[in-house]
Amino acid sequence: MSRLFAGTPFDIPPTCDRCDRPIESCDCPPEVAKPTWLPPSKQRAKIRTDQRKHRRVVTVIWGLSPDETNLPELLSVLKGHCGAGGCISNDAIELQGDHKQRVTDKLKKMEYRVG
Ligand SMILES: [Zn+2]
Repeated sequence: MSRLFAGTPFDIPPTCDRCDRPIESCDCPPEVAKPTWLPPSKQRAKIRTDQRKHRRVVTVIWGLSPDETNLPELLSVLKGHCGAGGCISNDAIELQGDHKQRVTDKLKKMEYRVG
């Protein structure tokens, strides 16, 4: 009995994204692991407030290595915690407004060393 889709595009076996060989005969190494982040207790964050144009104040969290810290994730945690907008700039996290005390408390709670 011939297969229903034999010879049609539906008959193509699944192939590997990287080598384009059929999955069965692919011998690519397993997916490269995500970088392992350094535990917060091994990191020291520094926090300062900066005054920008038009007397706009931002809270800057800096001193954390972008290779060892998931900065985008930390940014979203801090944005949620402070209810403020923010971004990552020059490997530092910037939150709009003065949230120095809140951020210090939160980072300490997350076991970052602060100061
Ligand atoms: Zn492969």
